Amino acid sequence: MTIPLIQRAKNNETQIAIVSREGTFTYGDLLHSSAQIAAQLLHSTATLQEQRVAFLIPSGFEYVAVQWGIWRSGGIAVPLSVGYPRPELEYVIADSGASIIIAHPDFEAVLRPIAQERQLRFILTSDPLPEATELLPEIDITSRALILYTSGTTGKPKGVVTTHQNIQAQVTSLISAWEWTAADKILHVLPLHHIHGIINVLTCALWAGAQCHMLPKFDAQTVWQRLADGDLTLFMAVPTIYVKLIAAWEAANQAEQQKMTAGCGQIRLMVSGSAALPVQVLEKWQTISGHLLLERYGMTEIGMALSNPLHGERLAGYVGQPLPDVTVRLVDESGNLVEPGTPGEIQVKGPGVFLEYWQKPEATTKAFRDGWFCTGDVAVVENDSYRILGRQSVDIIKTGGYKVSALEIEEVLRNHRDIQDCAVVGVADAEWGSLVCAALVLQPGVNLSLEALRSWAKEQLAPYKVPKRILAVTELPRNAMGKVTKPAVAALFQDA
Ligand code: AMP
Repeated sequence: MTIPLIQRAKNNETQIAIVSREGTFTYGDLLHSSAQIAAQLLHSTATLQEQRVAFLIPSGFEYVAVQWGIWRSGGIAVPLSVGYPRPELEYVIADSGASIIIAHPDFEAVLRPIAQERQLRFILTSDPLPEATELLPEIDITSRALILYTSGTTGKPKGVVTTHQNIQAQVTSLISAWEWTAADKILHVLPLHHIHGIINVLTCALWAGAQCHMLPKFDAQTVWQRLADGDLTLFMAVPTIYVKLIAAWEAANQAEQQKMTAGCGQIRLMVSGSAALPVQVLEKWQTISGHLLLERYGMTEIGMALSNPLHGERLAGYVGQPLPDVTVRLVDESGNLVEPGTPGEIQVKGPGVFLEYWQKPEATTKAFRDGWFCTGDVAVVENDSYRILGRQSVDIIKTGGYKVSALEIEEVLRNHRDIQDCAVVGVADAEWGSLVCAALVLQPGVNLSLEALRSWAKEQLAPYKVPKRILAVTELPRNAMGKVTKPAVAALFQDA
């Protein structure tokens, strides 16, 4: 059968699908170009039969046409990150066993030698394309579609495999919860090797017959200009992007600020996710944009699982309730369900849950318990809404026999007037098991002593949650998605 996403596009041929630096493209353009790319990939074979095709293309029409071309030829899309240095590109290409690499000419210098060394077929997006063929293979929707590399907290990144059916389930759940329609226009500013940018923004938009306006990369000024144009209906980003947009708004003059704020008025929904949204950021964004950000929780392996409501009350610091077709439970260390108010590990079931870690059957088996995917994230249900306490392995700190949530402590520390941002980690300690340590980004020109911070924090937090060590840093270490990399923060304390 035809992939449902492609089938749907055929009903929207004359509608605009993508607006990017390359121009404006309809669903018809996307169908035509992706059929040409599929024909090029097939090279007169009947189907790629789940061969892995790694591709590195900046955000825009070409990226999407190639992704669809891979799918239409029966291949598995393996998006590479524009930010990866050579060893990381090589790791993903080798681990996925890619047999074909497609590169934008900007990346030829790094990728062609890798392809040559490994004797892989190498295609440039500037190569001439064959005429589109009608004879594209039938695609079984239970076949593998996508491998996304996700860095666990330990070990090398693993390839998360989703099928066309998984993707369909992840997308339709969000389409229904957030009421996507063909009238929507979304600004795409996220990396395209990660679930947030690929599924929640790009594929949801194209499934809905909506317009996806793609920026080659995030830049606060350009994003504000586009928001100020006042023609967009949706915006989705990670918390760090909202922080940068707030800083750019604050740096603008009053007339510019008014224009920026007014532009947000047409937008019907703004979403934050992929990392915890500090309540202060949510509040500041509300005063600037008039939007109470909808925070949601998800993961590469499961798609989106929890979301604040589109219409009902959104609670600051909470991620809401299970999305349509997603079942969520919280369990303790013995695997028993916990009562509301008691923290437990988030486990998830549903058609959007991934198929497997690529060629890692043991890791796949270990990740499930009785058919439930074990996320490794800890949450608690309060006021009928889930609150994320952090990653079991790094954010739940066992100190002096108590379990404390790093995210909860960070939320409190950010209220200190001298603290701009912070990251709390546990560092191994003979006396305490783990010592609560806080890396602090201070306001410019400010000094903050451990004693002063501790005496302030004792008024807000139980004594065992108060950081015992602090370290002033100019920046927190972050990954490509803007998420703080906790092991790197812990290493700062070990080195100090
Ligand atoms: P990724 O697979 O890269 O999307 O990362 C998924 C992880 O990001 C989850 O396992 C959580 O630890 C974290 N995460 C995602 N959304 C949220 C959120 N709203 N609040 C806190 N953590 C989140």
